[in-house]
Amino acid sequence: MTAKSYDLLVVGGGINGAGIANHAAQAGLNPLLVEQGDLAGATSSASSKLIHGGLRYLEQRQFRLVRESLGEREVLLKMAPHLVRPLSFVLPHHAGLRPAWLIRLGLFCYDHLGGRERLPTSYGINLRRHAWGEPLQPAFRKGFVYADCWADDARLVLANALQCQELGGTVRTRTRLELAHREGRQWRAELRSATGQSEVVYTRALVNAAGPWVEQVLKQRLRLGARDSVKMVKGSHIVVPALHPGPQAYILQHQDGRIVFVLPYEGRFSLIGTTDIVHDGDPGEVHCSDAEVSYLCELVGQYFQRPPTPEQVVWRFAGVRPLYDDRSENPSAITRDYTLRLDREGAPVLSVFGGKLTTYRQLARHAMQSLQPYFDRMRLPDNPTTLVGGDLPGGDFEAFLQDARLRYGELEPDLLLRLARQFGDRLHKLLAGVRDTTDLGQHFGAGLYEREVRYLQLEEWAVSAEDILWRRTKRGLHMSAAEQAALVEWMAGSQRYSAGG
Ligand SMILES: Cc1cc2nc3c(=O)[nH]c(=O)nc-3n(C[C@H](O)[C@H](O)[C@H](O)COP(=O)(O)OP(=O)(O)OC[C@H]3O[C@@H](n4cnc5c(N)ncnc54)[C@H](O)[C@@H]3O)c2cc1C
Repeated sequence: MTAKSYDLLVVGGGINGAGIANHAAQAGLNPLLVEQGDLAGATSSASSKLIHGGLRYLEQRQFRLVRESLGEREVLLKMAPHLVRPLSFVLPHHAGLRPAWLIRLGLFCYDHLGGRERLPTSYGINLRRHAWGEPLQPAFRKGFVYADCWADDARLVLANALQCQELGGTVRTRTRLELAHREGRQWRAELRSATGQSEVVYTRALVNAAGPWVEQVLKQRLRLGARDSVKMVKGSHIVVPALHPGPQAYILQHQDGRIVFVLPYEGRFSLIGTTDIVHDGDPGEVHCSDAEVSYLCELVGQYFQRPPTPEQVVWRFAGVRPLYDDRSENPSAITRDYTLRLDREGAPVLSVFGGKLTTYRQLARHAMQSLQPYFDRMRLPDNPTTLVGGDLPGGDFEAFLQDARLRYGELEPDLLLRLARQFGDRLHKLLAGVRDTTDLGQHFGAGLYEREVRYLQLEEWAVSAEDILWRRTKRGLHMSAAEQAALVEWMAGSQRYSAGG
């Protein structure tokens, strides 16, 4: 069998790899995206899920990063109105920490630096009189409110991978780049699937978007030297029963200079994070420690009247930030900006260091611009394109939901809301011909039906129950252990069935 050829091989199915593969396909190239595990299986599903300018980065004078990130909030709101939505943050003023004038100055810059269309400006509130102050301890009197955005990180990755595929690109999950070397003016790459099958492909250029593995890919898979290095900084989150009513989030300052978010999550939970701990081990082996759980609970306890306890934690997860090593001593101070390195000694390889969920689109554009000299026929679109699922009339999610309620009126409102958020306009593909829940097949619990599971397997590369429970949906938080076990068993059976033809 002759080896297949691609314009571009993108290694790593996190947000940066998926974003670059999508941009390559948009530019008219023929990319292959390979991910050794599941899409968004590493850092890109373990983030705080904020599309934000990063108020804290202003203190570090990272104005370029903040400006670009602030601008991306409005762009991503338009590109994926089902996955990205505005979120108001309450910042209680802590008398012993940053002075009010400094916060006001920071928020002024935040309001004016990046350009706003939909997002409102910041303002001050009296926490004793405002409903959003009620969950807080009475010692906090003054507060500030500003807006950023929240995004479903794992599904943002999927939307990019789906778009890449729809534009003619190829996406392969559970496929690792084993080795690659230059052969003439191209790369010869050896891929290995999770089932142990090997395949050789040829590509004109290679993108190393392996996140925390970027150096490992350079040194071990490509056998190249690395001028730059990545500093791995672990960050953990905990999920507890909701600490407060309402749609707002809280941003809390710690005496150690760090900040921690309390975010409304999945309807009845709060997501709390994060930490910053240098990680030297295997990027695939990261866990949220008991000490981190205590750190997060203690800080929230300094602000909230009813603080969370470690016993209330229903889920904890950790991820590794693949930061560009700028030699900062303090892990919280290492730049969150990205660096792209192009090695042109023969067929090109572009490596991605650092970056944020927020800036993935800009990173992908810059990556493609660096590769432009190698592809005469590359045509990068001038304007951002709507992501898969995001083609809602007028970009208005609420109007889309109203319409969906009319069309699928027999389905429970909560189920429909979740599906509309997850799938956007692809909701109609999922629910084609559905009148009521009896058309959705077996119910696994918490609104997860066979119809959706099959769709995720067929259309969104879901292989394991974990892919479904913890990334494509967050049903793992809502389903009992027995319900989850039943899904695992059903999926094993469905795979046996399809393997047997
Ligand atoms: C705790 C925490 C909170 C964060 N919060 C935010 C936030 O609120 N907002 C924000 O904008 N950013 C946030 N970030 C940053 C953001 O999550 C990351 O910058 C981003 O997810 C990195 O994406 P990536 O694609 O570079 O890496 P990853 O998502 O880690 O993807 C790299 C992929 O490469 C694959 N891979 C590695 N080697 C190979 C190989 N040989 N072959 C095939 N595949 C391979 C891996 O399996 C992995 O899936 C946060 C990060 C952390 C850790």
